[in-house]
Amino acid sequence: MSGPAHNSIAVPTASPMIDPFGRSISYLRVSVTDRCDLRCFYCMSEDMTFLPKSDLLTLEELDRLCSTFIAKGVRKLRLTGGEPLVRRNVMSLVQSLSRHIESGALDELTLTTNGSQLERFASELKTHGVQRINVSLDTLNAEKFRAITRWGDLDKVLRGIEAARNAGLKVKINAVALKNMNEDEIPSLMEWAHGKDMDLTLIEVMPMGDIGEGRIDQYLPLSLLRSRLAARYTLTDLPDNTGGPARYVRVSETGGRLGFITPMTHNFCESCNRVRITCTGTLHTCLGHEDSSDLRKPLRASSEDTLLAAAIDRAIGLKPKGHDFIIDRRHNRPSVSRHMSVTGG
Ligand code: SAM
Ligand code: SF4
Repeated sequence: MSGPAHNSIAVPTASPMIDPFGRSISYLRVSVTDRCDLRCFYCMSEDMTFLPKSDLLTLEELDRLCSTFIAKGVRKLRLTGGEPLVRRNVMSLVQSLSRHIESGALDELTLTTNGSQLERFASELKTHGVQRINVSLDTLNAEKFRAITRWGDLDKVLRGIEAARNAGLKVKINAVALKNMNEDEIPSLMEWAHGKDMDLTLIEVMPMGDIGEGRIDQYLPLSLLRSRLAARYTLTDLPDNTGGPARYVRVSETGGRLGFITPMTHNFCESCNRVRITCTGTLHTCLGHEDSSDLRKPLRASSEDTLLAAAIDRAIGLKPKGHDFIIDRRHNRPSVSRHMSVTGG
């Protein structure tokens, strides 16, 4: 398959997307594949069934879908997955989307990755206008890394991170806080990240998808982790200027920034500016709800974008107020049935 054509420039429309609660939608996350080269135990079951390739939108269709959202006011676009860098020819999508950065229609084109393929792709990402990426890494211990990811090679990820930094990409590390797994290692992970001028963001595990075991043994409230860190480091709250779900502190001893994403202990929905599309063109307006809207049908029904734009407006009009994730002994089942790898977090 060739890549998406470098065609339409997104011209912003007069009516930006505003949901029923007055939130303006300016951030789109796109899961370009549900597949992954790892199987993190909190994200996927070992024997995942992936979508048939024939169900996937082509890269050209993904480009058209993203471009329609950009024309409707999206200013930030994140590619995710599954693992975005395992989608065949994904770099041609990055390259074609970069025209929206060049035209000024898009402020940021970015990516969340497990880092395993970064050594190969880092410099190309930079060439195509990507400035910053998030790399998910829960441990610096090779054995634990293998246990968490079921077969991953930590060295490969560390080489990927170095390649990204050498290419001039700003790297942020994301780590899921996992009870009895990496909780003792958070200080060393933070010192390592800050020593390389990388922010570290900690994430609470969310009850998404059947992973073959309950969540209660994985879930570590960040409120607890934060108070443990505060006993050892000086944490100063930073003003909330990211517009995202993370709350940041400055760590005086390292000089670095530490973020907390706390969907379980502190719900951040009131300022939610984002929606997600899957690799089959399904739009999810909330990470924590089952409801979805099919955009593939209107996308394929016409080469004009009118039907598609109307379907997007209808879906945004249904965006729920917020999620209601719960993990406790009585609620040890997934709150939503789809896995995180379907929407990419
Ligand atoms: N494969 C890429 C990666 O790992 O960065 C992108 C997709 S992955 C689904 C995106 C993020 O979701 C990762 O940081 C991962 O750790 C996080 N994640 C996966 N399952 C999760 C869960 N159940 N709760 C909280 N975070 C989760
Ligand atoms: Fe793959 Fe990312 Fe899920 Fe891990 S968290 S299995 S790397 S999609």
